[in-house]
Amino acid sequence: MVERYDVVVAGGGPAGLAAARVAAAEGGKVLLLELQAQIGGQAQSATWVPADVITPPLKKSIVANMKEIKLHSPHKELSTSGDFGVIVDRRLFDKLLAAEAVASGAELWVSSPVKKLLVSGDVVQGVHVEAGDWADRIESEIIIDATGARGEWSSLLLRKMLKRDWKRELLALSNEYLMVNVTNDQSADLFFTSYFAPLGHAWVYPFGKRFAMAGVQGVRIHPDAALDEFIGRRGVPRLERAVPVAAFRGQLPLEGPLNQTCANGIIAAGGAAGQIYALSGQGLRYALRCGEIAGKVAIDAITEGDVSMGGLADYERQWRAEFDAELRAGQLLHSSLSVSQDQQMDALLGALEDKPKLQQAFIDVFTGFRLKGPLEALLKDEEISRIFGRETIEKTLALK
Ligand SMILES: Cc1cc2nc3c(=O)[nH]c(=O)nc-3n(C[C@H](O)[C@H](O)[C@H](O)COP(=O)(O)OP(=O)(O)OC[C@H]3O[C@@H](n4cnc5c(N)ncnc54)[C@H](O)[C@@H]3O)c2cc1C
Repeated sequence: MVERYDVVVAGGGPAGLAAARVAAAEGGKVLLLELQAQIGGQAQSATWVPADVITPPLKKSIVANMKEIKLHSPHKELSTSGDFGVIVDRRLFDKLLAAEAVASGAELWVSSPVKKLLVSGDVVQGVHVEAGDWADRIESEIIIDATGARGEWSSLLLRKMLKRDWKRELLALSNEYLMVNVTNDQSADLFFTSYFAPLGHAWVYPFGKRFAMAGVQGVRIHPDAALDEFIGRRGVPRLERAVPVAAFRGQLPLEGPLNQTCANGIIAAGGAAGQIYALSGQGLRYALRCGEIAGKVAIDAITEGDVSMGGLADYERQWRAEFDAELRAGQLLHSSLSVSQDQQMDALLGALEDKPKLQQAFIDVFTGFRLKGPLEALLKDEEISRIFGRETIEKTLALK
């Protein structure tokens, strides 16, 4: 028997879980299909987010507060204090999101990879799910593609319809180790050197008592070799006695959002739609919010009886009004720092020295947590605006 739903969500990460929660809360019959055997299974553990995205039910997933950040270039080091958001454990965070979605009435299946879309003409009408010798055909008014940007089966849905593959030259590869026996488990480190150029950096994030997450990302690196070499060569003092107990490989598309994030009967949200801030590779807050918008618009379109691309256009309008300028700013700033030359980053840290307010502004701009005010502050400093490129900063500020 063919199963029938109002909304099928492919992918149980933050975008899919937020979409499923909202669509079910709006009264839809909703099914979420997750490829992995558990929600939060594949996710890299440490994710840095602004504190205001953590609603009370998600608080338990916070493992560290980002209060002190050390910035490193090849020959300089700066330490800055402030309220820079929190680190959440994605393995728990995603499960808490799943609890919310299920409490709203969504059905959730794990170990259920969506292998292809059911398409009639140019209208998506369902999905084909297949695992081992089990297969199912599920019909649905709307599919939400929330398959992220990692792994073999990610992003094959809307992108396939649009015949748009990822731009390989802008696909950053990453590897992270969860390290135990870390001596300073309070502060975070960000490393900018030509070793990860172009388009890369490395980090050590706090992850609770005696734990830290050390990672690298870059476009032309071999992530495994680069991470081992980074830890060995850089000699980060707090990691001297630490050992890895888990590794998380990933990839991050830094090309910016798709030009078109919905088609007839389908919406893409989160990593699958390219909703990632290129300068730092952050994406969780966009995934959550765009997932929510997708869930609401899907139910509105079904209620109106129009699930065509025109009927779903409100999704495109709403998320772009909230985030498009910010995401484009991330791309502009990223390409201005992308060469990540050692001298450039030494000069940047030199210019930030003894200027705690500007150090905070740089971190706000790097994460994208706050943009306009911090960018204006950076622009006022002659040396910093020269390093970013005055034109880049002005163009960024002009984005609407
Ligand atoms: C190394 C690294 C570090 C990062 N650090 C940060 C950070 O500090 N802060 C931040 O905000 N963001 C960070 N990000 C980005 C952030 O992880 C993503 O933006 C976010 O996870 C996107 O959420 P999503 O729900 O769109 O996709 P995902 O979290 O990738 O979830 C997609 C889900 O879909 C499932 N899936 C895939 N294909 C299928 C299929 N065919 N059928 C069924 N299920 C499928 C996957 O198993 C997965 O569970 C980082 C990313 C990487 C790789």
